[in-house]
Amino acid sequence: MDQITRTKVKDLLKSAPGQEVMAKGWVRTKRGNKQIKFIALNDGSTVYNIQIVADTSRFDEDLIRRITTGCSLCVVGQLVESVGSGQAVEIHARQIEVIGECDPVRYPLQKKDTSLEYLRTVAHMRLRTNTFGAILRIRHAMAFAIHKFFNDKGFVYLNTPLITESDAEGAGDMFQVTTLDLGNVPTKENGKVDFSKDFFGKKTSLTVSGQLEGELGATAVGEIYTFGPTFRAENSNTPRHLAEFWMIEPEMAFYDINDNMVLAEEFIKYLVAYALENCMDDLKFLNDKYDDALIERLRSVTGIAFQRVTYTEAVEILEAAVAAGTTFEFPVHWGTDFQSEHERYLVEKHFGKPVILTDFPRDIKAFYMKQNEGCAPGRETVRGMDVLFPKIGEIIGGSEREASLEKLERRIDELGMSRRNLEWYIDTRRYGTVPHSGFGLGFERLLLFVTGMSNIRDVIPFPRTPKNAEF
Ligand code: ATP
Ligand code: MN
Repeated sequence: MDQITRTKVKDLLKSAPGQEVMAKGWVRTKRGNKQIKFIALNDGSTVYNIQIVADTSRFDEDLIRRITTGCSLCVVGQLVESVGSGQAVEIHARQIEVIGECDPVRYPLQKKDTSLEYLRTVAHMRLRTNTFGAILRIRHAMAFAIHKFFNDKGFVYLNTPLITESDAEGAGDMFQVTTLDLGNVPTKENGKVDFSKDFFGKKTSLTVSGQLEGELGATAVGEIYTFGPTFRAENSNTPRHLAEFWMIEPEMAFYDINDNMVLAEEFIKYLVAYALENCMDDLKFLNDKYDDALIERLRSVTGIAFQRVTYTEAVEILEAAVAAGTTFEFPVHWGTDFQSEHERYLVEKHFGKPVILTDFPRDIKAFYMKQNEGCAPGRETVRGMDVLFPKIGEIIGGSEREASLEKLERRIDELGMSRRNLEWYIDTRRYGTVPHSGFGLGFERLLLFVTGMSNIRDVIPFPRTPKNAEF
């Protein structure tokens, strides 16, 4: 091939016609007749293809035959204005090289079935579809925007451990990490597993949250955020839960619950606005193909004030709805945790906008949440906050943390929790305690919202769910 540098398709489509260019990518389709072939080439830089026009008289018959859907090509030719509809420019090929052939019979994406369900069974190849190309690019843009948002605010990116001995949060069932031989587990005299023989000399698991370590960072450098993988062995096969997902957890010293809410709202709006500004081609594609209200929904969120409402007020709204004839699968009364159907009723039916719920019953929330003063007996609440979104339900969970050593210790004892693994955490309250707050945003829940996809398995490249760890 000629010595000329390759240009990405995204840039070619914006280039002025009249120059010699080189494109590399994978063939999406080939059509045409005996004299002329039209090849749609995509390199993943954009959802759009560049059209290659090949005059068959200029090429070997065998070469033309080897160009099939899925094969990889290098093409050199003139960039010319396109007469056909669809794109501004196309390449009139002078040289074509088939870099890698693709067996058209066996290629998994040749199948007529292009449903999202089918594509999950070929997740190793689905990344080459327009849909997953768009999702991967949006996922990348959101990851970048998250780092930019916090960096611009002076937050420090803190890496918290993935292997941990604490399940202090009780956020979910944990995956155990061990090097013990499961066929021959060492036991103590009482018959229990002898974890002193295990790799870390104790029982360890994959983390369900980096929050507790995040608090150590926040009470040292002020404002931190984590952004990493999180693991929950919850056996819930829902369209909103993964066993391995990514979570962003900011934690801020000197923030109360109101500061926390302001930050959470600003954060999500920033991310959605970033997507609208930087990912419009991909959003348009997803909007046209899967969800024609997507872009409108994204726009509406950036311009609206989220509704703030306490748990107790929300229960009253839901009870009134039930009295007026709405039926829920799960009952609601003060003290129960909301199900996704309740969250969605509040967001979609009642308020018609994102909702920030606060002040939950103490008994349904984690031990570290700040306890409200002056609650009626039996009606104790804590300064938790959940951000609820249309179509998704909970997208963020957070709280102001209990800063009082005495109250924190009392709560730990009330719950009968073991303090052995927690002394390091309690030290933050012993030595220079400060009010502080934080929250966790599920990265894939955010992506569900931003892409309009309805199953969380379709916004992560390689989903892990119960009975599925393929690819
Ligand atoms: P849910 O009630 O929806 O199961 P949770 O209350 O257990 O969530 P938190 O412990 O508050 O979740 O975690 C913070 C955020 O992490 C949630 O708001 C959500 O966005 C996300 N998240 C939690 N569990 C999962 C999961 N299994 N898969 C994907 N994201 C999750
Ligand atoms: Mn939660």
